[in-house]
Order: sequence, then structure tokens, then C-alpha cells
Amino acid sequence: MIKLHDKHFKPFLSQAQVQAAVKNVADKIAADYKDETPIFVGVLNGAFMFVADFLKEYQHPCEVSFVKLSSYSGLTSTGIVETLLDIPVNIKGKSVIILEDIIDTGRTLKELVHLFSNTHVKEFKIATLFHKPSVYNGEYKIDYIGMEIPDKFIVGYGLDYNELGRNLKEVYQLNQNTMINLVIFGKPGAGKGTQAEFLKSEYNLKHISTGDVFRYNIKNNTELGQLAKSYMDKGDLVPDEVTIKMLQDEVEKNPQAKGFIFDGFPRTTAQAEALDAFLDSKDMKINATIALEANDEVLINRLLERGKISGRPDDQDENKIRNRFEEYNLKTAPLITYYEGKNKFYSVNGIGEIAEITKRLKAVIETL
Ligand code: 5GP
Ligand code: MG
Repeated sequence: MIKLHDKHFKPFLSQAQVQAAVKNVADKIAADYKDETPIFVGVLNGAFMFVADFLKEYQHPCEVSFVKLSSYSGLTSTGIVETLLDIPVNIKGKSVIILEDIIDTGRTLKELVHLFSNTHVKEFKIATLFHKPSVYNGEYKIDYIGMEIPDKFIVGYGLDYNELGRNLKEVYQLNQNTMINLVIFGKPGAGKGTQAEFLKSEYNLKHISTGDVFRYNIKNNTELGQLAKSYMDKGDLVPDEVTIKMLQDEVEKNPQAKGFIFDGFPRTTAQAEALDAFLDSKDMKINATIALEANDEVLINRLLERGKISGRPDDQDENKIRNRFEEYNLKTAPLITYYEGKNKFYSVNGIGEIAEITKRLKAVIETL
């Protein structure tokens, strides 16, 4: 992963793949033009690297020139195309072959065609290293294509993001989903809270502890709090939709977050499915579910120690602790299966120094 200005880009094409696409164009053009002397016109700035490598693959008589247009600002085509360097002189009667780095919507191409419209050239052909067929307007036939690519913003090999990235030998693709959403679970005492604190600051994530969210809504008598309370007063379980709504509020309250840590939810497969559906509706997803694991004896000692300080009665009674573990095992087992099925489950050893455990969590997150 690389960073240019504010955006992250992930590897898309290796140097070898790019060179194969260059050779592909050169070979096709050579098959048609090796017996005459075409003039290749590179479109600056993006095509400079392509033109250089193309010519090394095209070992037949030819001339080379450049034009310069500009249409992109940031990540999307502005639609405004300016001529900054005009067409070469003395092209009348020659075969002109445009060398473009990339043809996207085709707006720039239209301008190019106009530029050459009254030049009385023998032939006018268009070659591009990369082409995005899914967004192309299809107005003109593209004669030679090195490689078709999906509608993703790419950089490298001459292509820039606000002028950076042109000197990369490989091609990278915009990583659109830089959000990291985690589900964290672990038995009482496993260190979820401690580690969530670290993840929050390291990755600018928002920690959503379901218990806290419930307490907040009930204490502040919010609409959802009242609704939840109406079920609890009757001794009923709060329906998942109500909990999801509360989580949704938390997500919407934090539009600047780079992601969320869901803690205490989901607790059942049905809840996991509901969470997925909600995230999907926001074009978000869970990237990883991390279980902080530690063996029961270690945790019991930790909790008993904690109980001595905090005075929490349920942390002072070994039998109660064991019951909570039992409940955890029963409830999380199906969730592990659920997330394993999606290749999103990670088990992290929760025994050791706090900093050491943090490192293990970081190692998991860095792979996402
Ligand atoms: P079009 O006019 O076909 O929409 O866009 C053509 C020009 O926009 C290209 O010459 C290039 O400068 C820029 N462009 C289109 N797609 C991309 C892309 O994925 N990455 C970069 N860096 N520039 C692009
Ligand atoms: Mg260009």
C-alpha cells in the first residue's frame, strides 16, 4: 500500500504486466505499419513513460512528437479539456498514431480528434495503453488497446494523482475502502477494553461498546432508550432491530471515524447477519472479527485480582466467573463459525504483556 497526498493506493499491475501491455500495443501497430514511417504522437503528461517504452519495443522507422492536453483534476474528469501544446507541424500526408496512456470517458479523445481534424493526415489512428471500457462513451473506435481495466482510478507509470505517482514503475489502484471495521470479542478479563483503547487512537477508530450505548440511551431517555426499556420492563429481550438502531446512531454520529470497533455485539448469528445488512446499506463492512483468547485459569486470576480492587461482586466469585465463561463459549462458538465462513475470523493470543498483545492485534489489522 502506498500513500499519495491523502489517498491510499494498492498494487494493481506489476512492472512485467505493464511491459507486456506495452509490447502488446507495439506488436499490433508494427504488424500494420512496419513498412511505412508513421508519426507517433504522445499525449502529455501521462503518456511520457509509455511512449519511451513503446519506442523501445517498436524497432521500425518512425517519428515521434507530443501534444499536451489537460482534463483531470483530482480523481474525476472535470470535462474541461485544454490544449497546452499544439499538434506537430508537417504532418500532412503522414499516418498519425496517437499514443495515450489511458482512455477513460473519451472526452480527451474527442478533443484530440478535433485537434487533428483539418490536418489532412493520411491516416489517424488511436492507441492507448489502458482503457476502461465500462465508462467509455464509445464515440470513436480505439484502434489499439494495450490492456482493458475496470473503472478504478490508477496511478503510476506516468499516471498521476494530483501530480504525484508518475515515477512509479508499477501501476497502483485507489484503495476506496480504507475504513477498518472490527468486531472484537473475548471472555471477561481478556483485555478487550484495554486493547480497544489502543486501537482507537492508533487507527482513529470509534469504539462502540454496546453496553455503554444501551446505558447512554436509557439514562438519557432517548426514543430508542424508551423503546428498549419498554421491553426490559416487561422482562422481554430487546429486539435486535432496536439495538442495531442504536448502533446505527453511533455510526452516524461519527462520520469522521476511520472505522468502528464493535464490542458486545453481535452475540448471535442473527445479530451478525443484521449487523452485516446494516453495514451493507451504508456501503461498509466488517473487515475482521478478532477474538482475544486466554485460558480460563489465567483469566480467573486476573478477574479475581480486578475484583479485589473494583469490588465488583461478579469478579470475586470463581463460580460466577466460570458461568460467564460457559455462556461466552455457548454464544460465541456459532459466531466464530459465521465469521470463519467469511474468512474474517482472527484469534489473537491475549496472554502476555499488554504491549505485546497490542503488537499481535496490529499485525492482524495490517494485513486487512
Ligand atoms: P477521459 O477524457 O477519457 O475521461 O480521460 C482521459 C484522461 O484522464 C487521461 O489522459 C488521464 O490523464 C486521465 N485519467 C483517466 N483515467 C485515469 C486514471 O485512472 N488515473 C489517472 N491518474 N488518470 C486518469
Ligand atoms: Mg492523459
